[in-house]
Amino acid sequence: MNGDFRQQLRAWLADNLCGEFAKLRGVGGPGREHEQYELRREWDRKLAKAGWSCLGWPVEHGGRGVSTQEQVIFYEEYAAANAPARVNHIGEELLGPTLIAFGTPEQQSRFLPKILAVEELWCQGYSEPGAGSDLASVSTTATVDGDDWVITGQKVWTSLAHEADWCFVLARTEPGSRRRDGLSYLLVPMRQPGVQVRPIRQLTGTSEFNEVFFDNARTAKDMVVGEVGDGWRVAMATLAFERGVATLGQQVGFRRELDALIDLAKRNGAIDDPVIKERLTRSWIGLEVMRAHALRTLSRKDPGYEASVSKLVWARWHRELGELAMQVRGPESMVAVDGDLDEWQRLYLFSRADTIYGGSDEIQRTIIAERVLGLPKEPRA
Ligand SMILES: Cc1cc2nc3c(=O)[nH]c(=O)nc-3n(C[C@H](O)[C@H](O)[C@H](O)COP(=O)(O)OP(=O)(O)OC[C@H]3O[C@@H](n4cnc5c(N)ncnc54)[C@H](O)[C@@H]3O)c2cc1C
Repeated sequence: MNGDFRQQLRAWLADNLCGEFAKLRGVGGPGREHEQYELRREWDRKLAKAGWSCLGWPVEHGGRGVSTQEQVIFYEEYAAANAPARVNHIGEELLGPTLIAFGTPEQQSRFLPKILAVEELWCQGYSEPGAGSDLASVSTTATVDGDDWVITGQKVWTSLAHEADWCFVLARTEPGSRRRDGLSYLLVPMRQPGVQVRPIRQLTGTSEFNEVFFDNARTAKDMVVGEVGDGWRVAMATLAFERGVATLGQQVGFRRELDALIDLAKRNGAIDDPVIKERLTRSWIGLEVMRAHALRTLSRKDPGYEASVSKLVWARWHRELGELAMQVRGPESMVAVDGDLDEWQRLYLFSRADTIYGGSDEIQRTIIAERVLGLPKEPRA
């Protein structure tokens, strides 16, 4: 079965990542989301039509219900083919599984087919100027007005909001509630007068995340996932999906970058420098260790603190890869030709964000210190 799965996928990728799609090889990903965006969207649709997306979703929801092992094979072959970064991952890997676990049948039939068909793209509206690491400080509010929720507040760092049709928003629906209580998980259409998206220009010169302003934005009353007031639990489940099988997709990108860097070092002679050779070797070993750790963690029902260990390890690893890329490129890495950055300069600059998003290093260390090692708790405000 697995052998067939691998062979079929390999053959499909070889037959389809060609023609106009050939130029998508190695394209996209963090810091490079602007690359060939429309064509990558077409590619995602092509994958979906052929049944190569939403593999882990149950069959009754339009997925293929394949095992974790087969999903691993998918990511391995996808990387080996140097296929492009996906544009639909927030819907496919974060919201889809959340709706399957917590959504009503109506929400499932309204949204899942559109995610499957890559007809509607999603973004994640959690962080706010006053609620990042301390997410329970969310202050965006939603109140009922007739048949609608009316949403007011500001989100920030919302990745790909400028491309998204919908946003899953964590908002305070019980006035006067505090911390994790009284929050709800709302599905909000992005293309309406009450929603304003302002791109944030990053170090890389590109804008992948945004400020999102909700000014009396509306969504229907039945657009709450889970119970009203129970949004914290749903939001945490989404984060657990983000840290689950989806991390294998992330490692696909890492593998692609490392392979390309080794190739560059061979071509430009940097490989002859013993220090660079050793760092590349260490980087390769680091990636193997992360892969083994991810596979071990996935086989557990509740990864718990291991997700924090993974986050710390991959964030450091990837930042170091960015630094190593500059070393391999040599003095040329200091110059932007015509003000434009190349893929290595983008990698270096964007990877500075790795130790912040998805839970910063400091937060992960606190989780490990307090929950695993049982060290005294930090003072809380
Ligand atoms: C590239 C990128 C993409 C993102 N995409 C999204 C998205 O799509 N949707 C979304 O909702 N959010 C997104 N985020 C936001 C991300 O989740 C937050 O940046 C992150 O949670 C940290 O919050 P903050 O930026 O407010 O920093 P803060 O929480 O203000 O932290 C600032 C610094 O203080 C440290 N710190 C904070 N609290 C403590 C503590 N208790 N103990 C010790 N140190 C502490 C932190 O580690 C950090 O170094 C994205 C961020 C980035 C960088």
